[in-house]
Amino acid sequence: MKPLEEARAEVLSAVPLLGRERVSIRESLGRVLAGDVISPEDVPPFANSAMDGFAVRGADVTAAGSVLEVIGDLPAGSRSDLVVGPGEAIRIMTGAPMPAGADTVVRVEETLSEGSKVTINTAVDVGTAVRPAGGDVTRGQTVFTAGTRLTPMHVGVLSTVGVAEPDVFARPRVAFMSTGDELTPVGEALGPGAIRDSNRPMLRALLEETGVETVDLGIVRDDPEALRAALDRGAESDVVISTGGVSMGDYDVTKLVLEGDTHVDFWQVAIQPAKPFAFGRIGSALFFGLPGNPVSVLVSFEQFARPALLKMQGARAVLRPRIVARAGENLDTDPGKTVFVRVRVDGLADGEPTVVKAGGQASNVLSATAAADGFAVVPRGTGTVAAGEEVSVEMYKWPESREWLDDR
Ligand code: AMP
Ligand code: MG
Repeated sequence: MKPLEEARAEVLSAVPLLGRERVSIRESLGRVLAGDVISPEDVPPFANSAMDGFAVRGADVTAAGSVLEVIGDLPAGSRSDLVVGPGEAIRIMTGAPMPAGADTVVRVEETLSEGSKVTINTAVDVGTAVRPAGGDVTRGQTVFTAGTRLTPMHVGVLSTVGVAEPDVFARPRVAFMSTGDELTPVGEALGPGAIRDSNRPMLRALLEETGVETVDLGIVRDDPEALRAALDRGAESDVVISTGGVSMGDYDVTKLVLEGDTHVDFWQVAIQPAKPFAFGRIGSALFFGLPGNPVSVLVSFEQFARPALLKMQGARAVLRPRIVARAGENLDTDPGKTVFVRVRVDGLADGEPTVVKAGGQASNVLSATAAADGFAVVPRGTGTVAAGEEVSVEMYKWPESREWLDDR
């Protein structure tokens, strides 16, 4: 059996990088930067006021009680040619450019206006409430480096520095299918002996979350010709993912069809669930043959396909974040494998995360995966993690806030 890390390294080393393209900032969420982003502008572009108040010379307000002559008004979006001289002030709004001569803003709350005069009620330090040009980002500064995956906050910063069309890596097209004679799509009546095809809808959602384009090849029957045709159609995409048919059964057609193919390897990975796994190429497409059981699909997608798809898009961070938590109960696992226990994480907000099993741990019990926040990863050679001991948890989502709306 292949250790997990070795299997993943082998997968990642086979992953090609796609081309690059420019996209509009509107379409950039989730995309990966293909080059460093150098700011073409200062942010803010000019020194401006952080407060509604009066722009003054700092030397005039070092003591409380000075009375200044108000010579003008400066709303945001306007500018003034007036120069603030000694004993003078300009009424200024938040975001308006600092007028010449002024270096300090006194908040309106600290003043008293009467006609064209303003009294400054407190002493104010020179430079107070002025946002300098380039105080956030300076022109020429590297704001992001290549390989960064864009979040809504990155989209905000790109717009603030004036980058309308970031240079990003292309997105792979991923064709996916379920295999199995027993499968019925959701929305159709279940016949005798049939079960729902849960892999394909889940896979599509996982793929969309990974930022790739998807091509649904449907449910493929356990028939070598039908499967061959579906795989060949899939090979027109960058990646093909199938589920089912990779273990030892008589009807494991994926294995029957691809076993002799020198470009596809059938692995036994030392993990639970998701021990059987096929990987290689079909034509020029990367191929992932995931097992059939839905939890195994999730685990092998998370451990192999997701990191590969992120790497293919140029991302530097391809693994989920992990936290250390205490087991809230005994976690009994097979010491011969790295075991992924579906767990709920409690106590994160208190700084004392603990994990408990989110439900049944058999590889067909999908419900526990939705109740879970991630996988407690019990390394090979461990066996039991006793209650109170620490365990590493790979978070595939963060728990919802416990502060629920109560008016529904
Ligand atoms: P297989 O490796 O094809 O024998 O599949 C292993 C188990 O997973 C069998 O019990 C299948 O019925 C089940 N299974 C396979 N594909 C799916 C699917 N798309 N959705 C739900 N269960 C599946
Ligand atoms: Mg099958």
